[in-house]
Amino acid sequence: MGVETLEPYDDDNIFARILRGEIPARPVYEDDYAFAFHDINPQAPTHVLVIPKGRYVSWADFSAKATDGEIAGFVRAVGAVARELGIEEGGYRLLANAGPNSHQEVPHLHVHIFGGKKLGPMLV
Ligand code: AMP
Repeated sequence: MGVETLEPYDDDNIFARILRGEIPARPVYEDDYAFAFHDINPQAPTHVLVIPKGRYVSWADFSAKATDGEIAGFVRAVGAVARELGIEEGGYRLLANAGPNSHQEVPHLHVHIFGGKKLGPMLV
């Protein structure tokens, strides 16, 4: 699939505005590649979103366009956030919605981190 067929990035999406500091967030972690903050409508005792700093709509967009450094930095950041949250021992779940079939609401790539309790089975 050509990169040009992917959905264009909307610079006014809510996570872009959070990255620019236009909308407040409850930060958890930040480095050169990623920003993590608490989900405004938590679905578990710990529910944090990790987003890349680059302008990527989805996992497909990110994996096609991001540099190896951005991809490595983002993946490492997700691990660092889970460590900082203290949920590694109990375990946690990562989830990334992509596109309409997944009900992705915000068109800036984000990985949900759920933890802090025994989670239910995966629902599809
Ligand atoms: P998704 O359905 O995967 O696109 O998830 C989007 C998530 O963003 C939802 O869990 C929302 O609760 C969360 N969300 C939306 N607006 C904000 C915000 N301003 N701050 C933090 N989380 C938000």
